[in-house]
Amino acid sequence: CSNSNPTGPIDTTLCDFETVESVNDELFSNLHELVATPFFKFFQVDLYRECPFWSDEGFCDNPSCGITSVDESEIPERWRAKSLSKLEGSKIDDRHELPGCYYRDSDFCFLDDNTGGDYYDLTLIPERYTGYAGPDTRRIWRSIYEENCFGLSEVSLHSGPNPALVSLPDRMTDAFRNEDGDGGQCLEKRVYYKVISGLHASISTHICQEYLNQTTGEWYPNLQCFINRVASHPERLQYIYFNTVLLLRAIARIGPYLQAFDYCSTGGHEDDAETLAKLGNVISIAQRAGRFDETVLFRGENANVLKEEFKDHFRNVTRIMDCVGCDKCRLWGKIQTTGVATALKILFELDEKALDPAANHNLLQRSEVVALMNTLHRFSESLAAVDNFRRMWKATSAEE
Ligand code: FAD
Repeated sequence: CSNSNPTGPIDTTLCDFETVESVNDELFSNLHELVATPFFKFFQVDLYRECPFWSDEGFCDNPSCGITSVDESEIPERWRAKSLSKLEGSKIDDRHELPGCYYRDSDFCFLDDNTGGDYYDLTLIPERYTGYAGPDTRRIWRSIYEENCFGLSEVSLHSGPNPALVSLPDRMTDAFRNEDGDGGQCLEKRVYYKVISGLHASISTHICQEYLNQTTGEWYPNLQCFINRVASHPERLQYIYFNTVLLLRAIARIGPYLQAFDYCSTGGHEDDAETLAKLGNVISIAQRAGRFDETVLFRGENANVLKEEFKDHFRNVTRIMDCVGCDKCRLWGKIQTTGVATALKILFELDEKALDPAANHNLLQRSEVVALMNTLHRFSESLAAVDNFRRMWKATSAEE
């Protein structure tokens, strides 16, 4: 832990840790303001869909797990469900529908079809310690890691998490810890593992940064929690940087499309100009630090099959979110898996022509844009928290 500052290149990217650290303050402050604007702070989602994989998903009755939705009348009219489904539904022809949600061939996630669900003001719902833990959470994380089994013939597609695998011991995730020594894992699987492990580490960092002292009721940064869950596994910390670079690269790539997107949310020109200015800053940082070469993935003979499997499995991850038994965790789980899935789509599905806002203005749904930016905000906030924990660690070491 005393040497927990990673240095040098971030594996599978063209970027290094130092570059990400050098931009993170600026990135975080711009994102923090951006996600507080009306366009980015309201998210509509159906949080109460049935878990498709098992019936006893459990639930968290801790008050910290609860969240409050906002009334539809508080949402700028053009972003309400009715207007959205008219706007989005009419132009999409390759939709695969399930009750309440759908995906298109290019998507890495299931999206809500805006026929149900509530609106949430994300600025009022911090991702932090909720007390949701135990066998239910372990089963969910394990199932998510199991989805890395793509490319193996015994794993059938569309099958969802295999209940037999779900009951394997905790060390199961180690089977996918494939940085060194395993030799046989393909790059795509390593990327999948990094994405998931980095997301898991980022959620853990938020839990530790805003931890609840159950005796005093105070929220505080819990250094020991961070050491146990993240810092004592240096690769987990590195994967937070990895996800940040991946998201930045996606945002850099889709920059012109994002700048042409319709943010006209409140009717006030000043608000919209402010949103665009902050977005412009984020895109410019993304162009500097989002150095990731997506062209090295999904190449070779079976590239298309592998990509379809990757998509299929990532879509399953977004459905596993319906099994999360804590409302607040489920909300942020859905946002972040949608945000990462959107980045993956931008990197691996869309060619330069598709990215042209004039030719393809219906490329992303509003919910994807909102999820993408809020997810990057989560990762950037985690890196800021890591800085805080480093300072706490130094102070503790100096005292000893
Ligand atoms: P867990 O975090 O549950 O991890 C289970 C096992 O996975 C560990 O024992 C370890 O072997 C392995 N592991 C842990 N981290 C990593 C990693 N980064 N990479 C690879 N392997 C790893 N709780 C909250 O308090 N607030 C939240 O907002 C919240 N959101 C959640 C969102 C989702 C989608 C899920 C599934 C859970 C969420 N939880 C949340 C629960 C939280 O993530 C933990 O599961 C819970 O705190 C119990 O932690 P744990 O120490 O048992 O280990």
